[in-house]
Amino acid sequence: MGGTDEPDRQSRDETLAGAILTIDLDAIRGNYRLLSKAAAPARAAAVVKADAYGLGVAKVAPALMAEGCRTFFVALASEGLELRDLLGPEPEIHVLNGLPPSAERATAQAGVIPVLNSQPQLTAWRDAARLFGRRLPASLHVDTGMSRLGVSIEEARQIAADPSAMNGIDLVLILGHLACAEDAGNPANAAQLARFEAVRALFPGVRASLANSSGIFLGSRYRFDMVRPGAALFGVNPTPGQRNPMAGVVQLEAKVVQTRRLQPGDTVGYGQSFRAERVVEVTTISVGYGDGWPRTAAAAAFFQATRLPFLGRVSMDSIVIDISGLPQGALKPGALVELIGEHQTVDDVGAAGGTIGYEVLTRLGRRPFRRYLAT
Ligand SMILES: *Cc1c(COP(=O)(O)O)cnc(C)c1O
Repeated sequence: MGGTDEPDRQSRDETLAGAILTIDLDAIRGNYRLLSKAAAPARAAAVVKADAYGLGVAKVAPALMAEGCRTFFVALASEGLELRDLLGPEPEIHVLNGLPPSAERATAQAGVIPVLNSQPQLTAWRDAARLFGRRLPASLHVDTGMSRLGVSIEEARQIAADPSAMNGIDLVLILGHLACAEDAGNPANAAQLARFEAVRALFPGVRASLANSSGIFLGSRYRFDMVRPGAALFGVNPTPGQRNPMAGVVQLEAKVVQTRRLQPGDTVGYGQSFRAERVVEVTTISVGYGDGWPRTAAAAAFFQATRLPFLGRVSMDSIVIDISGLPQGALKPGALVELIGEHQTVDDVGAAGGTIGYEVLTRLGRRPFRRYLAT
């Protein structure tokens, strides 16, 4: 690792890239601190599934560890094993999608905790404990209104009433998940809370966790022993319609490729969906849906504080923007314009593209050059 050519390699990649994705690890740590404070006395875990929402789990998870986080959630067993290799033996790692068939040995060896979601998963884990001759840890997800993952409330009752159901298993956490947490006024929240409280009472002495990012802001009754924020750590607003309490984490900047002047009647892009009615100064920037930018998000770029609207369709590798609002020559080839950042948040881009900030983040992944900020 490192070596003297590392900085050169880095700057070369940055030179060749079409876009720069800057990920502020200090801001992620600050968001973790803020959520921990908001959740106290409950503990804050961190959800780092899908490569930490596309931002790079290899950088994000150690930063959260350094901030004191000791419990992590991922979605897949493969992500759990990767995270164990990354973080070492200390932190608790839960796998939300549970135990895939035939994954018992790998899961047990890595010391990751499957979130058991169904009777077959529970049976397989119990059998594994007997076969391996040792006790195995597990969480139990109880479905209280999503019909996605988890045993039913009736199944939870049967499990709690059957002294042999957990033979060889150390139950470490009872988990529920809210379907409508970002909509604070939705009566589904209180209904799920009441069901979860009843479920929790079936397993006295076992820690409980219900809230995702938005759930933390529904009030102290939703926080139980542990909260499970993901998106809010990465700057997505957990309280839509209200001021975002989280710090922004990502900045996406695109490079200017070329600049031209449109004459009246000139058209832009596939389908010629934009036609100039006057002279327009335009620039082509090096980001498109191949970089994860939603094709349907007809938004704007920003240069300093000036808004530069998109013209025509988003292509795979490029977007044409109107730079008439800038002084002549302000954007040279290679200059950077902002697509996500101070002037346009991931939530704004999600709204413009008919999706959510979560999807925007997780799709930004591979192509832009990633720059990590950390002190
Ligand atoms: C993804 C997920 C979370 C995190 O949700 P955010 O809304 O990103 O905070 C928490 N719990 C479960 C079960 C999840 O699937």
